[in-house]
Amino acid sequence: MNNCIFCKIAAKKLPSKIQYEDEDMVAFDDIAPKALVHILIVPKKHIESIKKLKNEDTELMGKLILVARKIAQEKDLKGYKLLFNVGREGGQLVDHLHLHLLGV
Ligand code: 5GP
Ligand code: ZN
Repeated sequence: MNNCIFCKIAAKKLPSKIQYEDEDMVAFDDIAPKALVHILIVPKKHIESIKKLKNEDTELMGKLILVARKIAQEKDLKGYKLLFNVGREGGQLVDHLHLHLLGV
């Protein structure tokens, strides 16, 4: 297995508070939350960042956003932010594509 922490979380080799899982996605609480609700939605496929997306990932990325909406609905969030940090200069620290769901 590669040395990616989000791949390890997806494979349950590292602990996390999982909020949602299906065959393509896993979502878990951010270890250092920046909001009352701060969940990371992560495709199980290792894609480094938005920069590395391919056309074949179109459906996966649509699903990623719908999973974020599903979690927000289940948590009854009135409003929330969805954020991708892209590249080191864009604030990305973990090189496995993830969507931040930030709610109150
Ligand atoms: P980035 O800056 O790459 O967009 O965000 C990475 C996020 O992952 C940060 O908000 C950070 O707190 C979170 N994070 C880093 N390592 C871990 C970890 O081992 N477990 C969990 N649950 N979150 C992590
Ligand atoms: Zn990975």
